[in-house]
Amino acid sequence: MRDAAPWQRAATGANLLAADGSLGVTIFEEMTTLAMSTGAINLGQGFPDEDGPAEMKAAAQAAITAGANQYAPGKGILELREAVSAHQARFYGLTPDPQTEVVVTTGATEAIAASLLAFIQPGDEVLTFEPFYDSYGAIIGLAGGMHVTAPLLAPDFMPDMERLESAFTPRTRVVMLNNPHNPTGAVFPRAVLERIVELAEKHNALIVSDEVYEHLTFGVPHIPVATLPGAAERTITISSAGKTFSFTGWKIGWLSGPEHLVAAIRTVKQFLSYSSGTPFQGAVAVGLGLPDTFYQEIASTLQRKRDILAEGLRAAGLGVYLPQGTYFINVDTSPLGIRDAVDLARRLPGLVGVAAIPVPVFCHPEGAERTRSLLRFAFCKQEGVLVEAASRLATLRDKLQA
Ligand code: PMP
Ligand code: GLN
Repeated sequence: MRDAAPWQRAATGANLLAADGSLGVTIFEEMTTLAMSTGAINLGQGFPDEDGPAEMKAAAQAAITAGANQYAPGKGILELREAVSAHQARFYGLTPDPQTEVVVTTGATEAIAASLLAFIQPGDEVLTFEPFYDSYGAIIGLAGGMHVTAPLLAPDFMPDMERLESAFTPRTRVVMLNNPHNPTGAVFPRAVLERIVELAEKHNALIVSDEVYEHLTFGVPHIPVATLPGAAERTITISSAGKTFSFTGWKIGWLSGPEHLVAAIRTVKQFLSYSSGTPFQGAVAVGLGLPDTFYQEIASTLQRKRDILAEGLRAAGLGVYLPQGTYFINVDTSPLGIRDAVDLARRLPGLVGVAAIPVPVFCHPEGAERTRSLLRFAFCKQEGVLVEAASRLATLRDKLQA
């Protein structure tokens, strides 16, 4: 791969070490480090700058005080597995059995890793959309799988359906879906999901669906693929407390699906982390039980933040693709004469004091070419921070010409 940065090599699974022998870092780590060293506003890595619900913090503190400080059961404490099951029933009418069909994981990251490692044999194909979240490529590579992609196309980042169909082969073992989608912010409508299920059925592929942004959609419904006819028996659904509750540092995630698939994943999880942070699990159960108004508010608050940043990015002369979900807005920098978003992302903190993530790093070479002028900005920040970022970005055109 030409000019491959460490994260790109990691994302292909080809080599987890940088050429100079040092450990490669992800794009998120690289840009957060750059933001910190330059004092830039960090709209790169997607983490909120405010904590989530006070009752969840109090529950975690109380759990530590009460001595919930040793290993939890490998599959998670029953209270949280029951809360996950009740959440799936409340929002989606799904009824996973907390004893056999739910597993608590160390963030969605571990759920993704354990699922792919459980299902993929060397040489199996795993299909993702492109751009794709970085850990998919890395784990597919670690598992010895072949990573096949189908493009999402601007401006709405819906799949190219012909390319999607032709990306399926007899060796497709897993469709790794991400909905709502990072980095594009796309939320897939029922018709797209139905077609994916049909194709997965036809090719006897499993579906692993990363839905960590399930509650963060703006005026469109989130439809879990597992709710579609024919899907549940072949689908693992993944989510996390990080995004919904603004506790990304707790690293509590979960997955649910049919018993035989969950059992295979649980076996792998035993050897990745064995079990996940005990005192946080009960606190996340508290969060999952919060009333509907909490869930409505997190989406409407985030929508307002999206609109503030979108307006600032437009005013800065960038081409804005307004997302229907997630923490992220993609912009086209070519109206400002930029051809290479990776280069711009490295210069942006020094130029205007704002950090962002280049979209090509979520792609293989063909997709990187298609997205080469796109940047991703995170808007999960306080409104004042977004307003300040917008005013800094307003100087970008002049700074680029200076
Ligand atoms: N999947 C997607 C699409 C993400 O954006 C992220 C980052 N939050 C993760 C998985 C990882 O989630 P966690 O922090 O819970 O491991
Ligand atoms: N999910 C976060 C993002 O997309 C980053 C998480 C990480 O650093 N791995 O920005």
